[in-house]
Amino acid sequence: MSFTKISEIQVEAEKSFRAAQNSQELYDQKVKFLGKNGIFTELMKHMATLSKEEKPQFGQAVNIAKKILETLYEDIESQIKNKEIQERMLIESVDFTLPSTSIEMGHPHPVQKVTEEIVQILARLGYSLRLGPLIEKDRYNFEALNIPKDHPARDMQDTFFVDKEHVLRTHTSPIQIHSLEGETPPLRILGTGSVFRCDSDISHLPHFHQIEGMCVDRNVSMADLKGTISFFVQEFFGSGLKTRFRPSFFPFTEPSAEVDCSCPICKGKGCSLCKNSGWIEIGGAGLINPHVFKFSGVNYPHWQGFAFGFGIERMAIIKYGIPDIRLFPENDLRFLRQFVK
Ligand SMILES: [Zn+2]
Repeated sequence: MSFTKISEIQVEAEKSFRAAQNSQELYDQKVKFLGKNGIFTELMKHMATLSKEEKPQFGQAVNIAKKILETLYEDIESQIKNKEIQERMLIESVDFTLPSTSIEMGHPHPVQKVTEEIVQILARLGYSLRLGPLIEKDRYNFEALNIPKDHPARDMQDTFFVDKEHVLRTHTSPIQIHSLEGETPPLRILGTGSVFRCDSDISHLPHFHQIEGMCVDRNVSMADLKGTISFFVQEFFGSGLKTRFRPSFFPFTEPSAEVDCSCPICKGKGCSLCKNSGWIEIGGAGLINPHVFKFSGVNYPHWQGFAFGFGIERMAIIKYGIPDIRLFPENDLRFLRQFVK
């Protein structure tokens, strides 16, 4: 074993490093010569055969050769890596002229969509939106709306009671009372939001949505109410549809009426939705009961008013011919995607 062996190996290693075509090949050569079980490690094993004087010189010579090779390795490695990056950039370059992949945008839930549409139509008649708490005092949900203690609407089967004095509101009408108490007539307000009733089947949900309007002004009549609803029906369901009132009873209006419009699906000819009658019930309405004004401290008959209310899910069912109210809270995307536009 001689010192020339070291330089021979060094030259061979330099050649191999320079001949490497890519970073993997280069690395393999590094392992072959400088690795733990590489050629230089093998070489060191021969030190035992050397004389005492030669040993340190030999070791130093090996270390110098290794250092030189390591420096060379780093230089070649950075050159190869730069070259590889350049090549990759050429292959993977982005073509900005290609059309982009489409991103699916979110859209309002049909309940929200219908609510917004109703609000926009009635805003054109001067109505503006009010909201109220979901948990109401008995006074706002029942008493001030002229629903006495023994009224069936207070029955446990219909109402979710929170405690003795509070309920989950069963209708949006408490919003009317908050407005009557807190604002000065003349008023044209809309109240909307979630309402809760102990009920669930093909046409009822325990949690659904209502919207109602209230107009308080001087000399308000049923004719004003009918005009307002006729305008709304034609704007919401389609022009040419008729509106009719059927006498009814609600504690908070007097007189009261159930509101029908000619069926938007069959235009009054008769179909399964309107059960061949040509008419479909859309909500309730009436002149505000003087008792309601009295409870809220509004000067009646100086101020008079009318109110009307619709179930939002029901409006969507009629407008779009939806077969089952339970589709609304299910959030099945196949259903919801039909309301993108
Ligand atoms: Zn019909």
